[in-house]
Formats: sequence, structure tokens, C-alpha cells
Amino acid sequence: MIYVIGHKSPDLDSIVAAISYADLKNKLAGTDIYKPARAGEVNKETEHVLKKFGFSIPEGLKSLSGKQVVLVDHNEEAHSLEGIDKGEILEVLDHHKINFFHEEALEFKSLPWGSTSTIIAKEYFDRNIEMDKNLAAIMLSAVLSDTVITKSSTCTDMDRQIIEKLSEKAEIADWHEFGKENFKINSSVNDLSAREVLEYDYKNYDFKSGKFFIDQFLTVDSSDLEKREDELMAEMEKFKKEGGYHSVILFITDIIKEGSKFLIVSDEMEKIEEAFSTKTEEGKVYLEGIISRKKEVVPNLTKAFDK
Ligand code: MN
Ligand code: MN
Repeated sequence: MIYVIGHKSPDLDSIVAAISYADLKNKLAGTDIYKPARAGEVNKETEHVLKKFGFSIPEGLKSLSGKQVVLVDHNEEAHSLEGIDKGEILEVLDHHKINFFHEEALEFKSLPWGSTSTIIAKEYFDRNIEMDKNLAAIMLSAVLSDTVITKSSTCTDMDRQIIEKLSEKAEIADWHEFGKENFKINSSVNDLSAREVLEYDYKNYDFKSGKFFIDQFLTVDSSDLEKREDELMAEMEKFKKEGGYHSVILFITDIIKEGSKFLIVSDEMEKIEEAFSTKTEEGKVYLEGIISRKKEVVPNLTKAFDK
């Protein structure tokens, strides 16, 4: 058995990439040894999309130790499930910055496109591999999710082409409306605890200055979370102490307003303000036009804190 698995705190792209890449690999090899897996609980958006198109949630693994794996939608060890150092990585397929070291040669593919699902869909189309209508629908959902319905600066022409092709395959006439519907699931947050919001879509970064925790919450309506900012900040303070973090950052991206509200708890607030050329007020600031962690948030912080 070879597990195809995405990053911890899995988002829709990580889960759909695992499902679709396992399917593609099995079809290409004429086997069924590739199995999709997940590195944590799925979020509400993922649960909604999989259910809608008749897919079950991939098996959750506790550790990658002793397992043969294909990594999708990440390459950094810090983003992998525990035990990766004792597992056997056969292949990597990703679209993030590369921070990867391996003793031996292996298949490593990385393209600067908006989602891993874009890369996989392109493979299906290029190689003329049969794609199920429902698989096209979840892949379309993943591309639209990662590219924030094409609004993110990470969205490329290739993503736009693939969105058109997948829409056709999935028989979805209005992909923009379809993408927005999926995001709406994220917006009812009243049943989520502050901790659940904080761990919704997080990534850890080991910068030279210290450990950063960065969580992004995408929504079509940020008003519910706005009311809970104090509660969230209190949880972040606690979380920072517990985890020994240099900074804990939560940014709530309103995809309609196309901007993000940042909540920040940090040892060096001034340096963060400098990194974003802004001023915070009680650790809070709204930044117009910032919607990508990968392209806009992490590079600024890397420059300031990883020297
Ligand atoms: Mn991802
Ligand atoms: Mn992705």
C-alpha cells in the first residue's frame, strides 16, 4: 500500500489532491495500491464538498513511520504528518516554496500554479485519462478554494484554463457561483470554538527568530468572527504560551471585500508592522488586498524574521 497524503490541518486541496492523485496513479499503473489518506481532521468546506459529490473522507493516519508515501500539496517536513522522518517518501507533488532535503533521488514535481489539483487535472487532460464527472467537480472545488475563486495573486492562467475544462467535465455552468457556495460553508462559525477557528487552516514556520503559527480563515462574510475578536485574541495568547511561539497570527480573509483582518500576538510586533508597512491597534489590523498566505504573508515574514 502506498499512501497519497497532504499536509497537516488539511484543506480542500490537500484532500482532493490525495484522492485524485491516487486515482490517477492507479489508472496509470493499472493497480490499486495507491490509497488517499489525510493528516488530520477535514474542515467543514471539505466535508461539504466530498459529501455533495459522493466521496468518502480518506483514511486518517496517525503517523507516517514505516509507510511508503507520496506527498501532495506540501514538501516541508514541518507541514508533514508525524513520523515522516521514519517513512519512505516515493514522490512529491506540490505548488509551494521548496524547503526539502532528501538523501536519495526521487520524483519531485513542483509547479508555481494556484493549486495541486490544477497540476493533477492537467495530467489527466494531457494524458487523456478518463475523469469521472464527480471527480471533476471536487477538483474544480479545490482549485477554486486554493485560488479564492481566481481572486488570489497565486492564480495563474493555467488555473483559469483548468477551471474552464473542469467546469465543462463536471457540467457546472457558473463556476464563480459554485465556488462561492462552497465558501459559504466556512462562514457559519458559531459552532466552532476559538481553538477550532485558530486551527482551521494553520501552518507552522521555523524562522531564525522563532516559531511562527499562521492560520488563515477564508469566508464570504467576516461579521460573525469580527464579533469574536477578543475571544480569539485571548485564545491566541494562551496558545502562544503553550506552544512557545514567537508569533501567533490569525488572518480572516473576506473574499467579497478582498482583504484580510489580521489578529497578531507576537514577541516583536513592531517588526511585523514593518514587514507589512502598517500599524496595528491592540494587535489588530485590516489589510486591503491581502488574501494569500503563500504569496503575500509568508514572504514578508520570511524576509523580516528568517535572516
Ligand atoms: Mn493546502
Ligand atoms: Mn494547495
